[in-house]
Amino acid sequence: MTAPPLRNDCFALPPGVDWTPVDKALALLRERLALVTSPEAVPLSAATGRVLAGDAVALRSNPPQANSAVDGYGFSGGAGEGAHRLALVEGRAAAGLLFGGVVPGGHAVRVLTGAALPEGVDTVVLQEDVAVSDGIAFHGPLKRGANTRRAGEDVAAGAVVLEAGRLLTPADLALLAAVGLAQVTVRRRLRVAVLSTGDEVVEPGGAAGPGQIFDANRPMLLAMLARWGFEGVDMGRVADDRAALRSRLDAAAAGADAILTSGGASAGDEDHVSALLTEAGAMQEWRIAMKPGRPLALGMWQGRPVFGLPGNPVAAMVSALVFARPALGLLAGEGWRAPQGFEVPAAFEKRKKPGRREYLRARIRDGRAEVFASEGSGRISGLSWAEGLVELPDGAVHVRPGDGVRYLPWGSFGLL
Ligand code: AMP
Ligand code: MG
Repeated sequence: MTAPPLRNDCFALPPGVDWTPVDKALALLRERLALVTSPEAVPLSAATGRVLAGDAVALRSNPPQANSAVDGYGFSGGAGEGAHRLALVEGRAAAGLLFGGVVPGGHAVRVLTGAALPEGVDTVVLQEDVAVSDGIAFHGPLKRGANTRRAGEDVAAGAVVLEAGRLLTPADLALLAAVGLAQVTVRRRLRVAVLSTGDEVVEPGGAAGPGQIFDANRPMLLAMLARWGFEGVDMGRVADDRAALRSRLDAAAAGADAILTSGGASAGDEDHVSALLTEAGAMQEWRIAMKPGRPLALGMWQGRPVFGLPGNPVAAMVSALVFARPALGLLAGEGWRAPQGFEVPAAFEKRKKPGRREYLRARIRDGRAEVFASEGSGRISGLSWAEGLVELPDGAVHVRPGDGVRYLPWGSFGLL
């Protein structure tokens, strides 16, 4: 027997099949998927990382009343150029301690930072700028309103402070608390099932015979979901067996809002994820024009979106970041959020052919984007080395050191 000659077009697609550009697959996800999580009320202490279900409206202004920004002396009307003397009234205004009286014209009152401005005060002179005896003396000019904060200058009561879909941050809790909100209505956490497929895949730390590998994807994907504020549902590993996979998908669909699988997503004999989704008639798209991670099975299983990620951990992670992250955010009520990229100079050289978008494992050092030495998608160590991705466009490019490239830190995908 003689081996068949290698064909020039061995990487070509079957006739009539087109690669789906990344943007087209993203547009499809964005158009087909919608919010699935119901609202629930939680106290502020449980609100970080949750998705706001409705607009948050300020119950109170911030600041609630005009107050002093400094320690000093309050009076009315500002002061022109030159020397000024004012008589001091008895008493003082401090944070939380109202000055009940009225400060007459030509008088000043002792005020401390955060004190509500007494009646008759709209200007404060800094204590460091004042000589004090029986009254106070200082030099102008001082604008009316100097060293004070207007009521509501930050937020007016009744204003929307945070919009529905907001993924609440620690700073948001400060804002909500300041405007009088002690509880907020957020979306129930999205539940996402994770399962690994492949006869060769064994439990990390377990006995691994020749030809077997440890399941690297499941711990990674579950950890990513946790960072995103979702509830991961660990559905374990399934062998390359169609019946077993079918029943595991059934169980996953019953207990979760969406399903992430890894492995078995191409069109090979043992690629049962794509086969089952195709059989269910609910396969949306696959063969994404992207590197790494071209086999991606996007389908529905009993009403739940399934992201059939590639088995390769590098491809699985990149596909999860690029596709699953925004899509799950949409299901969770965040709306569609594209990762925020930054243009930075490249510290590397690379030529790329047209046709596929490429994501390189990258990190920033000395203000330039470095990429991992090997592009091999089996190099898990490169994922660990990286702190983000460099995204190269679908078309051909020749990147030279110093050229601007698009860098997407892990943080822009909601990791970290
Ligand atoms: P597949 O997409 O099933 O053809 O798998 C592609 C490659 O990824 C193969 O080398 C698999 O052994 C490997 N792989 C699949 N699943 C996992 C996993 N959970 N952890 C680590 N490697 C995997
Ligand atoms: Mg496999």
